[in-house]
Amino acid sequence: MIRAMSDAFPYRKKIEIDKAPRAKTPKQTAVIEQIGCTGCEACIAFCPVDCIEIVPGPEHPDFMKLVEIDLERCIGCQLCARYCPWETIDMWDWDEGVEVAPSLTVRSLIYDFDPSEMHEAAESRS
Ligand code: SF4
Ligand code: SF4
Repeated sequence: MIRAMSDAFPYRKKIEIDKAPRAKTPKQTAVIEQIGCTGCEACIAFCPVDCIEIVPGPEHPDFMKLVEIDLERCIGCQLCARYCPWETIDMWDWDEGVEVAPSLTVRSLIYDFDPSEMHEAAESRS
């Protein structure tokens, strides 16, 4: 059963994103395993709701950028996962995806993830 987003979504937003909200919680969400992301930005071109944001490179802001998904706006269409050339985006059932997101995230500008739950690489890259 899909829970209402207010019950299921555990993270606080770090930034306000001035884009239209989605109509309803999707069955699935995409989550990027950022450790494998090259910052090629191919996924951004395919996202129909423009919910993939660029994250400045953790070590050098202008190089080796990452991207992250605004989990509250992803509609679960799967296009980014299908076309990521580095196969570093996976589709998850909504509840599982929001729970696993920090452990796959090196750096987030959108969400206030608990650092202890983030990918271990985040420790040296925060
Ligand atoms: S397409 Fe894949 S590798 Fe390229 S920016 Fe998106 S997640 Fe990263
Ligand atoms: S699954 Fe669809 S809506 Fe969600 S981030 Fe990927 S392309 Fe965008």
